[in-house]
Amino acid sequence: MTPSSSAPRPVTTAAEAVGVDVGATKIAAVRVSADGTVVARARRATPRGTAHTLVGAVGDLVTQVRGERVTAVGVGLPGMVDARTGALAFGPGLAFARAPLRALIAEAVGLPVVADNDANAAAWAEYRLGAGRGHDHLVLVTLGTGLGCGVVVAGRLLRGSHGFAAEASHLTVEPGGPLCECGNRGCWGVSASGATIARLGRQAAAARPASLLGRLIDRGSPDAGEAVTEAARGGDRQALEILDRVGTLTGTGLAALANLFDPSVLIVGGGPVSAGELLLAPARASFARRLHSPGDRPPVPVLTARFANDAGAIGAALLALDRLPDDGRPGPRR
Ligand SMILES: [Zn+2]
Repeated sequence: MTPSSSAPRPVTTAAEAVGVDVGATKIAAVRVSADGTVVARARRATPRGTAHTLVGAVGDLVTQVRGERVTAVGVGLPGMVDARTGALAFGPGLAFARAPLRALIAEAVGLPVVADNDANAAAWAEYRLGAGRGHDHLVLVTLGTGLGCGVVVAGRLLRGSHGFAAEASHLTVEPGGPLCECGNRGCWGVSASGATIARLGRQAAAARPASLLGRLIDRGSPDAGEAVTEAARGGDRQALEILDRVGTLTGTGLAALANLFDPSVLIVGGGPVSAGELLLAPARASFARRLHSPGDRPPVPVLTARFANDAGAIGAALLALDRLPDDGRPGPRR
């Protein structure tokens, strides 16, 4: 059966989707086959300006990577995405809010579009094809500029009544800690994210410029967080302490999520996980201390995410493939 040009194409095993990950500084697009293989990719800086400027940039990227088999587009957005309408209610780092982005992007690209929170998309990538494969109950957190979180419950993304669920970034993990933009202190996103590692790294380097960490950051490493990891591997005491501190607080947050959602696996993603056990060992230790009654439940592993920088874009593409039945409308199940 050959689909006519006017009818939506049936989703088949050969179907592909474009996934777009919109960040505060860059937008990444990938074309993905049903088995998660990235077939094409493109990226560009996030333009400043209105929602229409952003939609134009997303449309350009979709045009660059799309192919004949592409049946849908998934878009991961940084912030609060209305699960019903695909509108962005609030996007930290973006210059606008309350924008009907899914509808605008669908109009621009002429394909069905699914829009979701970027961490939800990343969690979906790990659930479908990554470290959480085979686990119908999982929690993913990504340590980045802030802290992203997605929760899969019984094989579905937990969205809450509006789409704003699983916002772990403002969970208090360090009472009296640094001030968060939300007005509270010690939120996970400011106390134990990728940005925290970079901030503490810069402070430590400024205090001891002759240390290994001070020299690595002075050499102009583009990412202070990467310099912290490199210095920690080289035995720098302060760099090790930074990773230990952020790992410990991350474990505190993970335990709260495990107590709430009873997942069978917790997955940690984002740039800092390249530090490996220097970050994850203290996270697991703190997690074990705070998990309720660990001796009375099966072990809950804390794993590294499979997908790195592509997680949001690949997950958005998989959401689009999974949620769009033949009629092109978002399906009810996911
Ligand atoms: Zn906060």
